[in-house]
Amino acid sequence: MQIYADNAATTKIAKPVIDAMAACMEEVYGNPSSLHSEGQRAAEVLAGAREITARSLGAEPKEIIFTSGGSEADNQAIRSAALWGKKQGKIHLISTAFEHHAVLHTLEQLEREGFTVTLLPVYEDGIVRAEDVRRALREDTALVSVMFANNEIGTLQPIKEIGAVCREAGVIFHTDAVQAAGHVKIDVREMNIDMLSLSAHKFYGPKGVGALYVRKGIPLFSLIEGGAQERGKRAGTENVPGIVGMAKALSLAAEKLEENGAYEVKLRDALIEGLSGISHARLNGDRERRLPGNVNFCFEGIEGESLLLLLDAKGIEASSGSACTSGSLDPSHVLLAIGLPHEVAHGSLRLTLSPENTMEEVEYMVKEITGVVEYLRGMSPVWEDLEKGARKHVI
Ligand SMILES: *Cc1c(COP(=O)(O)O)cnc(C)c1O
Repeated sequence: MQIYADNAATTKIAKPVIDAMAACMEEVYGNPSSLHSEGQRAAEVLAGAREITARSLGAEPKEIIFTSGGSEADNQAIRSAALWGKKQGKIHLISTAFEHHAVLHTLEQLEREGFTVTLLPVYEDGIVRAEDVRRALREDTALVSVMFANNEIGTLQPIKEIGAVCREAGVIFHTDAVQAAGHVKIDVREMNIDMLSLSAHKFYGPKGVGALYVRKGIPLFSLIEGGAQERGKRAGTENVPGIVGMAKALSLAAEKLEENGAYEVKLRDALIEGLSGISHARLNGDRERRLPGNVNFCFEGIEGESLLLLLDAKGIEASSGSACTSGSLDPSHVLLAIGLPHEVAHGSLRLTLSPENTMEEVEYMVKEITGVVEYLRGMSPVWEDLEKGARKHVI
């Protein structure tokens, strides 16, 4: 059996998305900035995609900037808000300890450039508190950036409440919604969001294309100098086929948002239930307030990497921590942020499901993971110490 359970790293592009992109590449080759008919056809296609993207968020087309993906959207949102703040003497930026590196590394760079950064704590349930955001606000706070859903543990944040706190204080609120867009309902107006990042390849669209929503009235600076594309906010000839693919993927997601969500929740809960049968295992993140397809466990006495390799040999494609950090031996910064000790944060397993997974696959995964964990513990000196009582169980 071959099971793809790494949909938080990337998703398999949907066939109707490929078809829409192929048709676009064959039929619409003009440059949207050209004044002739071929160019104007491309401009129309682009406008249509912008309309769909905006509508999927409850935004207006003028509030959407197309980017090369989630990382660029995060970088632009944060740098732009920081620059705007600095012009008014505001140099304080607030975010959280468990953000994606596209956010964290941008903040680290800004710190080196003279900004002050407060990273809010994340509680054991993997959820940030709006009250903590309120308490961290200062006179000179320029930006609050809190992710919509975490990419490792899938926990959903109280975005509307955090947005309300920021709106009241007149501080720009950005959310990295790369894991959430196309998977859960988002309404930027109702949720008080000023800026939002999304990326097509996380919802069955193509890689290398994303969008940044920027509420009307919020200033935006360009990261890339050049032509006047995207109303001067993002230079470079638009990736028309990619953008068309992203719009198609968003439409498909919107059509089946509830149906797919309910189906994934059913699989997710069965998987959590099954894996909870393993001794000294722990589900990371709140049981309910998480993405429909996210399962993240720690197994005591286990190295994440060996677990992944053995599971891959059994046809199960999963991940340990985030795709960006596996390959390094550092424990996940997300698991450390929710308070797990180093030795446990090494042994995590993330399984992220899609509507293509089945209950039969869930049963297979429970059986094989249980077996592999037992096998690895059987040859682990750490596990032997734990069993002998020479070392104390943490889970
Ligand atoms: C994947 C991801 C990103 C980066 O998006 P890319 O399109 O791959 O650049 C940013 N934030 C989160 C939460 C993600 O999951």
